Amino acid sequence: MILLDFYRNKRVGVVGLGKTGKSVIDSLTASGATVISYDDSQISSGKYRNLSLADFNSEQLDAIIVSPGINLLWPSVHPVIKAAKQKSIPILNDIDLFQQHVIAKVNICITGTNGKSTTAALVNHLLSFTGKKVSIGCNFGNPILSLDFDSDFFVLELSSYQLESCNILGFDTSILLNITPDHLTRHGGIEGYVASKQKIFANFHEKSNAIVGVDCSSCIKIFEFLKKLNHPNVIPISGKVVPEFGVGWDKNKLVDNRDGLYRVICGNKATLDGDHNRQNIAASYAACIQNGLSEESFCEGLFLFKGLEHRQEIVIDIDGLPYVNDSKATNADSTEEALKRFNNIIWILGGRPKENGIESLIQYFDKIRFALLIGEIAEEWSILLTKYGVKNEIAKTLNVAVKRSKEISKIYGAEVVLLSPACASFDQFNGFEDRGNQFKRLVSEEKTK
Ligand code: ADP
Repeated sequence: MILLDFYRNKRVGVVGLGKTGKSVIDSLTASGATVISYDDSQISSGKYRNLSLADFNSEQLDAIIVSPGINLLWPSVHPVIKAAKQKSIPILNDIDLFQQHVIAKVNICITGTNGKSTTAALVNHLLSFTGKKVSIGCNFGNPILSLDFDSDFFVLELSSYQLESCNILGFDTSILLNITPDHLTRHGGIEGYVASKQKIFANFHEKSNAIVGVDCSSCIKIFEFLKKLNHPNVIPISGKVVPEFGVGWDKNKLVDNRDGLYRVICGNKATLDGDHNRQNIAASYAACIQNGLSEESFCEGLFLFKGLEHRQEIVIDIDGLPYVNDSKATNADSTEEALKRFNNIIWILGGRPKENGIESLIQYFDKIRFALLIGEIAEEWSILLTKYGVKNEIAKTLNVAVKRSKEISKIYGAEVVLLSPACASFDQFNGFEDRGNQFKRLVSEEKTK
């Protein structure tokens, strides 16, 4: 746990009683602060007391600490934010508290629309080969304040929500992988979303590293901008090409071209297949090499990395047909990576849709032998798929979809059954992990029938 000495004897309000809020309360309380808390929906439990909105807003506080789910601006300003602004109470988040208290340690921060967790997990795994103590957390795994203060490296996955409410900026190594439209309602449009991602590079210092994916137009603009600002170490990375003075790929070889010498480092491995994973590997390489990892250890570490659950995870095969769990694909861009990778697909998709739907995936529809639709969006997307000539059926639930996939796979000559929903899961599941775990259980049950 990280202690927050600055807040001893201060009176602090914590907004949001999820995992993050609870960790903030724990750290503040252990540091001798008086803490009150508020949440829109959670009921009080033990030390996590939920005051009424009126009671919370009537308090005179030294600071309020907000959780990532609290709207600062869009689609409307949360009432606690409005009240805090009227009273000029500082509004911070848990990353700000970390930044105030954890000085002289190295942080490596990762953001992007897709690939954050995979990259964070890979960087964490690779840096452990330096022999130093590494902690990983924030948006991935444990909240930032529950990490071990004694770590040498902190690998932090940062979401756009977390960056939006972050005030104390200036990280050591910052990675921006990619940007495609996502969470637009919450950020008031694409400009707001890009602006929050770009905050990862603010207030750099002379040893900062800015590692920027140059496979999408929004990130290329940010890359050019950082170069104009004379950022000391801007490294472009790509999953498709070898950028000038950057790190990227020449076919299946990772190339380090930071100094223009175009050195081949190693090949890729099957469990991290695809351009998207090549982007994640290039970024991880740049981050780790800049932080003292040897090339040899990088190659060894990459070879030993197993990949993360729920991301194009090949689960099991039934009668030689692989079942792939890509439950983490909650938007069309991440599903696109799976559709690029596989052929002759039985595609299980649907759930609670994101802003941009699946029209961007039309170019892959000829790879789909049959689609099985689940969740809130099933009927609407069934009409869309039929319009583009994709055979489909509304399965409604994952249970039915898995059963049907087994029945129809031979008829349609499928090579893979892919759960890659392109949707959030909360209409039917407690998150993408729950959806992926249920898929794995259902597939195992089908195998034994
Ligand atoms: P995040 O933490 O940003 O949501 P994950 O690493 O959990 O990203 O991967 C989520 C989904 O996005 C997976 O389905 C995966 O196949 C896909 N994905 C992973 N890395 C990338 C990338 N660099 N670009 C596009 N899609 C990616």
